[in-house]
Amino acid sequence: MPTYQHQDLRAGVRDLCKTFPDAYWRDLDTRREYPEAFVQALTRAGYLAALIPEEFGGSGLGVSEASVILEEINRAGANSGACHAQMYTMGTLLRHGSDEQKRKYLPAIASGELRLQAFGVSEPTTGSDTTQLKTTAVRKGDMYVIRGQKIWISRAEHSDLLLLVVRTTPIAEITKRTDGLSILLVDLRQALGHGLTIRPIRTMMNHATTELFFDDLEVPADALVGEEGKGFRYLIDGLNAERILIAAECVGDGRWFVDRATKYANDRVVFGRPIGQNQGVQFPIARAHVNIEAADLMRIRAAELFDRREPCGAEANMAKLLAADASWEAANVAVQTHGGFGFAEDYDIERKFRETRLYQVAPISTNLILTYVAEHVLGLPRSY
Ligand SMILES: Cc1cc2nc3c(=O)[nH]c(=O)nc-3n(C[C@H](O)[C@H](O)[C@H](O)COP(=O)(O)OP(=O)(O)OC[C@H]3O[C@@H](n4cnc5c(N)ncnc54)[C@H](O)[C@@H]3O)c2cc1C
Repeated sequence: MPTYQHQDLRAGVRDLCKTFPDAYWRDLDTRREYPEAFVQALTRAGYLAALIPEEFGGSGLGVSEASVILEEINRAGANSGACHAQMYTMGTLLRHGSDEQKRKYLPAIASGELRLQAFGVSEPTTGSDTTQLKTTAVRKGDMYVIRGQKIWISRAEHSDLLLLVVRTTPIAEITKRTDGLSILLVDLRQALGHGLTIRPIRTMMNHATTELFFDDLEVPADALVGEEGKGFRYLIDGLNAERILIAAECVGDGRWFVDRATKYANDRVVFGRPIGQNQGVQFPIARAHVNIEAADLMRIRAAELFDRREPCGAEANMAKLLAADASWEAANVAVQTHGGFGFAEDYDIERKFRETRLYQVAPISTNLILTYVAEHVLGLPRSY
């Protein structure tokens, strides 16, 4: 799936993104506001329903195509982080939900009538150690009662539904550390103000992330997705797709930075010649390009394996790491190439620089990917 493939899909996304120019994103960034009009336009065009099977109203495309959509969004200077989760959060429902849940939710998610783009895993005191999470859901009759706290739950204020990971069996009663967690599909519209409080967190970039407080929130027992206690496995099942899609966003960011740096290096004349004529300026841009292309190959390989339903854990993780590193390198190069203007809001480099930095940490930090590769690919001892 090199860049020359999926040309029609790429062209369609690019055309849509052209109607949301740099100034649109810059303005929202200043006000820390959600790109509602952009997300609505993407939804209307059907792009966010790419991974939903046709029988449920989506386009039934693979991760290869879905990743192209997100790559092109980021390559256009926009930010998929506002909506990427609408594409893949439903995967847990699709793979593990009951027929009734799928019929009830998937068509409405495909049409955009319902947004399922909030995913609640992270907690303030457990961090990357997901198996230790503490938010509990206790079964009482035909309800679950939820108590605890989540942090960094993005887009919760712009979502109708939340896929929430909770502990249904106390840690003291489980034998395997991955047991005892469950997944609940929480209707945020009903929960808000009835046991759920959402507090926005202002971050260095415009990313609608929040903290969630559950104070005996009651949800119906049929909110459970799949079997009780198997939530960790369901969570893991969705991670490869997420990593490949985020890798594609990083590739898109990286290409945007290289495009901008190249243009500026050609145009900016200092000491009587374009700065890009100096090897000290052109080599870092060329190297950033090389690294993005290499990361893209791993992303393509991971996506193809995923779409053929072959094991792709190693490739998905490596693609995420390589692409996040490559986009961050390209971001630094773009700032350096622009000199002082790299810091000026009007040039958008600093905004994208802040946005792409996230992917060294979320949805999984670089170190945790390296621990995966060390343990599961190379057979080194588990380090944590
Ligand atoms: C803007 C933003 C949006 C987010 N959106 C969501 C969301 O929608 N839903 C959600 O559930 N979460 C979300 N997250 C949370 C994100 O997934 C976590 O921040 C990430 O997984 C890292 O966890 P942590 O912040 O608790 O860091 P920690 O686990 O505390 O780690 C801190 C640092 O220590 C390192 N570290 C920890 N343990 C080890 C080890 N054993 N070996 C080596 N290094 C280690 C990590 O790599 C990291 O650099 C978001 C985060 C941010 C910042």
